[in-house]
Amino acid sequence: MCSNMPPLELAIQFHGHICPGLLMGVRVAEFARDYLDISPDRDEELLAIVETDSCGVDAIQAILGCTFGKGNLKFRDFGKSVYTIASREKNRAVRIAQKYQPHPHPDNARFRELNLRKELTEAEAAEKEELLGSIFERLMTMPFAEMFDWREVEPEIPAKASIFPTVQCSVCGEGVMEPRACLNGQLYVCPDCV
Ligand SMILES: [Zn+2]
Ligand SMILES: [Zn+2]
Repeated sequence: MCSNMPPLELAIQFHGHICPGLLMGVRVAEFARDYLDISPDRDEELLAIVETDSCGVDAIQAILGCTFGKGNLKFRDFGKSVYTIASREKNRAVRIAQKYQPHPHPDNARFRELNLRKELTEAEAAEKEELLGSIFERLMTMPFAEMFDWREVEPEIPAKASIFPTVQCSVCGEGVMEPRACLNGQLYVCPDCV
C-alpha cells in the first residue's frame, strides 16, 4: 500500500467515493492507530473485528491494512457500528462503538436522500456538494468522545490465517477449501452443490 498518501486520501481512493460513513470509519481508524500506537498492517500484525459491513469498514481496510483477503478483517454480522482493533505485537485491543444517536443530523438525512436520487437538478447537485462540505467539516473536527465510546478489551487474537488444501467437488467439479466441503460417503461436495 502506498503509505505516502494521507489516511483520508487512502480511504477515499479505496472506497471510490466520499460519504459520511466512510468519514466515521476514518475517525475510527485514526483513533485506533493513535490509541494503540500502531502502524498500518503488513503481515497480520493487526486484527480488526467489525460488526457492520457498511462504508466505514473500507476506511479500516485502507488505513489500517486489515483486509478481507489477508484474513485479518473479521466480520461479525451484528449490524452495529462497532470496531475492535487488536495488535498482536502489543497484545492489546480497543473496542470502539459509535454512540447511539436517536436523531441523525438533518444534513446527513438530506445528503442520503439526494444521494439516492437517480437524477439531480443543478440546484440539488450544488446543494449535495455543499452538504458534503459541511458534513466533512463536522465529522472530521468533532471531538471523538462525542461520536464514539471506547474501552480497552482483552485481545482475542487467533493464529495467523491458515491456508487449507483445496479438494474437488464431486458435483460441479470446482475446487473448494477442504473445511468448507461436506463429505458424501467418500466424495466431497461444495456448499453450492449441497
Ligand atoms: Zn460510502
Ligand atoms: Zn460444487
